[in-house]
Amino acid sequence: GTRRVLVTGCSSGIGLAVAARLAKDELRRFKVVATMRDLGKRGPLEKAAGDSLNKTLEIKQLDACSESSIRECVNSLPDRRVDVLVNNAGLGMIGPLECQSIDAMKELFDTNFFGLARLVKEVLPDMKRRQSGHIVVMSSVMGTQGLLFNDVYSASKFAVEGFCESLAVQALKFNIKTTLVEPGPVVTEFERKVYEDAESMDLSGTDKETAKIFREIYLPYSKKIFASLGQTPEEVAEQTVKVITDKEPPLRHQTNRLYMPMTALKHADPTGRLPLDSFYKMTFKHDKVFNATLAMLHLLKRIGGKK
Ligand code: NAD
Repeated sequence: GTRRVLVTGCSSGIGLAVAARLAKDELRRFKVVATMRDLGKRGPLEKAAGDSLNKTLEIKQLDACSESSIRECVNSLPDRRVDVLVNNAGLGMIGPLECQSIDAMKELFDTNFFGLARLVKEVLPDMKRRQSGHIVVMSSVMGTQGLLFNDVYSASKFAVEGFCESLAVQALKFNIKTTLVEPGPVVTEFERKVYEDAESMDLSGTDKETAKIFREIYLPYSKKIFASLGQTPEEVAEQTVKVITDKEPPLRHQTNRLYMPMTALKHADPTGRLPLDSFYKMTFKHDKVFNATLAMLHLLKRIGGKK
């Protein structure tokens, strides 16, 4: 039968691509409930959905930061049935910690972590009763490895990972599957917003050296990384659909194979020295090592693209 998939944060980026891709499935396996906080921003999704609009895809309002909005949306569905939850809504944040307010950090956690907790609380009891369901969560490679100037964002994704890793065990008892999708860089609004904020960020809250590291090392390099290794939202959507249709979905799925060595590095050394030294050297010691790494990644990407 067709499965009902509820996706959050569908006005742009990965959420939009996942919703549209599911709705246009040639085998018509899905009924998509594409949700967004602000229905005024439905234009791009409607365009991407094309003929599937109001057939295999319906658009509904859902604010991940509001329990009542979530409840209202789920209550509006026949039998409140959600077979697959794709928790995608999320915010980004980069920059020196001293330049970020606690309020902005709380807002980020309210979306990235508590948004997930609210949604799962709403759909899990029904999934348990039906003894079926799949909770799919857009995490990030930064949910397994922290990266420079991404302290708060990475922390929010670690929270998401810990939550799902814990939940997955009891969920499985009720035949409910859990999957963390972990993209590397993806070229979306997310990236644009984060860099826009970074360019205009007031760096007076931090010392000159930190500001310089952020402006002159971090920003140019991470832009290069997005430009060279960044995936499209459609690529991530394609892999998310694979995960959803997998008979035995994995707990974790990395979308960008180029980031797999990073995870391996982490698990290879329980003291944490190996990844710490590597990132330190890559950032501060050897421009050459960094450029060589980039060159190697380019090469791997070309080889990978031919498979
Ligand atoms: P995006 O900014 O295009 O999409 C995020 C969406 O979430 C937006 O449509 C936004 O309106 C929505 N949103 C924000 N707060 C919301 C709320 N309270 N309720 C409902 N919707 C809300 O960026 P994206 O890259 O498509 O990000 C989607 C997910 O992918 C995020 O969880 C992000 O952390 C994750 N991710 C992105 C990247 C990347 O490089 N772009 C990498 C790894 C993971």
